[in-house]
Amino acid sequence: MPEGDTIHRVVDRLRPALAGQRLVRLEVRRRVPRQPAPGTRLEAVTARGKHVLIAFDGGLTLRTHLGMHGSWQLHAAGEPWRRPAHLAREVVEVDGWEAVCFSAPTVALERVSGAAHVGPDLCEPDVDLTACVARMDGCAPDTEIGDVLSDQRVAGGIGNVYKSEICFACGIHPRTRLRDVDTATRYDLMRTANQLLVSNLGRGPRTTTAGPPGSVAVYQRQGERCRRCGARIEMARTGPHRRVTYWCPDCQARPQKAAEP
Ligand SMILES: [Zn+2]
Repeated sequence: MPEGDTIHRVVDRLRPALAGQRLVRLEVRRRVPRQPAPGTRLEAVTARGKHVLIAFDGGLTLRTHLGMHGSWQLHAAGEPWRRPAHLAREVVEVDGWEAVCFSAPTVALERVSGAAHVGPDLCEPDVDLTACVARMDGCAPDTEIGDVLSDQRVAGGIGNVYKSEICFACGIHPRTRLRDVDTATRYDLMRTANQLLVSNLGRGPRTTTAGPPGSVAVYQRQGERCRRCGARIEMARTGPHRRVTYWCPDCQARPQKAAEP
């Protein structure tokens, strides 16, 4: 699942080519009730959590969620596509450019954005952290905090990488129940998420801890030594979607009554 900073990079590539242009062609590989007509102006290209939103004049919005394997590719007109045409889910053509979305599981053309249920975007530098913390109350009290963090209804932008890295940075075990996480720690988690995501916007390898570019504390490091304490990093598949979760058993105290992996 792409992290929020990945989606922002996608949007940063698409926006200069598409925003403000007139639509030449829109193909959506899926029956949709209505489409913007050729000539309609593309108003904006934005990220909301993990959704890419392309808004057209007149109120229709094309919403894409890239899932595990989806991607947006921008081609100069006439340039061959870099992935097979049968994988294309949608094509947005404007003068000089074709933006093609491949393999995305979610493509929708909507009048009111379906991303409305997504919480505030943690990739925004001035995100409302209080609103994010308040939305945590929408989760069941026995939800593990790692799952709360990746719940896009709470806040947009956190995938498996950040879920694990944020919990490490805050010294909290990702399997701690929400009801055992006090308000100050909830703020700390959201503030840390915001800082890590914002600092990783733009180019360069994702970096979530001290060290050379690309350094991460726990993600995909199971069995390796924690750089802070030397303990072996652990991993489990957790939550209803069995998503990978990593932690240091010493820096992140195991909760008293954790669920079985
Ligand atoms: Zn450690």
